[in-house]
Amino acid sequence: MEHGAHVNRKPTLSRGVALIAERDIERNFELYALSLQAAVDGLGKADVMALPPRLRAPILFDRAATAKYLGSMLVLDASGNVVIDAASETPRKGNFADRDYFKVQRDNPDAGLFVSAPFRSRLRNGSPSIALSRRLSHADGSFAGIVMIAINLEYFHQLFADISLGSHGAISLIADDGLMIMRQPYDPKVIGRDISNASTFRQFRSAPEGSFSDTSSIDGVRRFYFFRNFPRLPLIIMVAEAEPEIYAAWRRRALTIGSLMGAFSLGFVGLSLVLGTQLRRRMRAESELQMLARTDSLTGLHNRRTLGEILEHEWRRAKRTRSVFSLLFVDIDRFKAYNDTYGHQAGDDTLAAVARCIGENIRRPADTAARYGGEEFIVVLPDTPADGACVIAEKIRRAISGLAIEHAGSEYGRVTASIGSASWTPDENADVTTVIKAADEALYNAKATGRNKVMARPAALPS
Ligand code: GH3
Ligand code: MG
Ligand code: MG
Repeated sequence: MEHGAHVNRKPTLSRGVALIAERDIERNFELYALSLQAAVDGLGKADVMALPPRLRAPILFDRAATAKYLGSMLVLDASGNVVIDAASETPRKGNFADRDYFKVQRDNPDAGLFVSAPFRSRLRNGSPSIALSRRLSHADGSFAGIVMIAINLEYFHQLFADISLGSHGAISLIADDGLMIMRQPYDPKVIGRDISNASTFRQFRSAPEGSFSDTSSIDGVRRFYFFRNFPRLPLIIMVAEAEPEIYAAWRRRALTIGSLMGAFSLGFVGLSLVLGTQLRRRMRAESELQMLARTDSLTGLHNRRTLGEILEHEWRRAKRTRSVFSLLFVDIDRFKAYNDTYGHQAGDDTLAAVARCIGENIRRPADTAARYGGEEFIVVLPDTPADGACVIAEKIRRAISGLAIEHAGSEYGRVTASIGSASWTPDENADVTTVIKAADEALYNAKATGRNKVMARPAALPS
């Protein structure tokens, strides 16, 4: 395998797989190690050793005896001969002085728990195994032999087979000296192979755990490697995922997350749209209702209720700013006669036409026209002195007359209106009704003096 660049992203899946495998292996090895220690302790006790082999074995080898994939549990003497065998009262015959698990303990008093290289068992029909061993010492510290447990490699084989890594994935357990203990996909030829010279192995030894990307020289598949050195055992676990599979998994995950997000977003957008539409519809309906409530349906001008609000508001404002406030009272001349002659429907049309004349002749934003009732209208002109109010009133009167709507019952032969105007600078005590009354008086004067004319109430004097 050629060496590839380090990759920053966390190989979550590989790491998870490695940790699961590591935990299982460590748990089993811990059990074996405890058994070995118990055996060492038991062998040091005279009373245990005095027991007949039949009773002695279960005491010496109680813990691991039930462990799955346990091969042999043996005590070897200083020459490597089997002296105690957990499997039988009469120890199977054998000498294992050539095994590394024996030699290491013989040659190094401080070897501790030793994990052997893979080997083919001579007692168990050549089945691939590794062994754990501990040294037995005489009282003076000299070598007395070993206690060993052989573990079937089938254990790792099964463990790895249970882990799904996709068709191009790989998982390996490697001794920290570079011997391959187990690999999935399984190939018997690879077991026991020394990979200590491979660049990947050097990579494995460079850090407690890590990840990198590399292309296999065997199958040319680019893989993503995660490795981890067992903290308490001389073992390295390596998990490799073929990159296309990593990406496929990512794509699947991204798609799932993406479509969930998409669904949520769409749902949210949809909900917003629905709510927005309903809100707008409701607002429109409400403002329409509000408009209806504030507007006279026949003329489109403000209705009497709204007029009241506007008058209050403008009156208070004029009082505050001590500004002149004018009001026009518009009343169609001989309108009863018009209705009687031309009918109610024609009367309505004429009312609307007159209202338009009024609306079109008020220019300033604060100016307001409203239907006071029947054929009577009121125009509110804030900040407008008497002469200005009369100019507007005259424009309105002329516009109405200019409609030239036939009115046989009128002395003018057409539809006309009389307008009374009143102007006031509000003081503390004055009420807006005062101005309305004044305008109404002026209107009465207009009617009384020939109609189709504007009459202003004489310059307002607070009463
Ligand atoms: P004047 O010149 O003195 O104002 O005489 P007038 O007939 O206009 O006065 P009056 O107040 O006696 O009559 C008002 C008439 O206006 C009564 C009614 O026939 C008519 N009128 C009031 N409201 C409406 C309306 O909404 N539609 C129609 N078609 N006619 C209305
Ligand atoms: Mg009237
Ligand atoms: Mg009238």
